Amino acid sequence: MKKFVLAVAIFTTIYSFKNKKKEKRNTVMKRNGAYYVNNHIIVNRDYKVCPFYIPFPKLKARNALKLMIKDARNQGFQLIIISGFRSYLKQMRLFNMYVRRDGLEKAKTYSAEPGYSEHQTGLAFDVASPGLDESIKEQFQFTKESKWLQDNAHFYGFIIRYPKGKEDITEFMYEPWHIRYVGKEDAMEIVNKNLTLEEYFDLI
Ligand SMILES: [Zn+2]
Repeated sequence: MKKFVLAVAIFTTIYSFKNKKKEKRNTVMKRNGAYYVNNHIIVNRDYKVCPFYIPFPKLKARNALKLMIKDARNQGFQLIIISGFRSYLKQMRLFNMYVRRDGLEKAKTYSAEPGYSEHQTGLAFDVASPGLDESIKEQFQFTKESKWLQDNAHFYGFIIRYPKGKEDITEFMYEPWHIRYVGKEDAMEIVNKNLTLEEYFDLI
């Protein structure tokens, strides 16, 4: 009987320890000028990257992107990369240009202020179809390529970072062209549960 009680006690301890480990995935940690949850870098309206943060080359993400574009092409869908890594300085120039054109309030609805752009992580890309560029990427949502991306990006480890209908959570307008690499396992779970990165990591 004593042995049984001991076994139960050990089991309960291990079980609660395991659960505690699981809960840790939502802890936000800061290191090297950026915020992380469970080793995923987080950049959004609340979590800013330091101006000097420059990522190591993100080979996994780049290779996944290449493979996705190749597979899409083989199925008759043409995806092109229109934007990848952007430094703090480049984002600052871009944002200032938008502010001059549309004013601060309007610019903030479609562009991130320097330090708040996921493009500074090297894990975010803007993709579109041929004939579209930065200035007319809104039209991407009407293409067959956009539908393909929506249906398939997660199989390659990407999520549509700012989905339709979740604007109040991401605080970004719908951006069908902006994908973020999180790895296949997490991307699959995020998409299957219809979540944003903020919901997935309990950041709201
Ligand atoms: Zn983007």
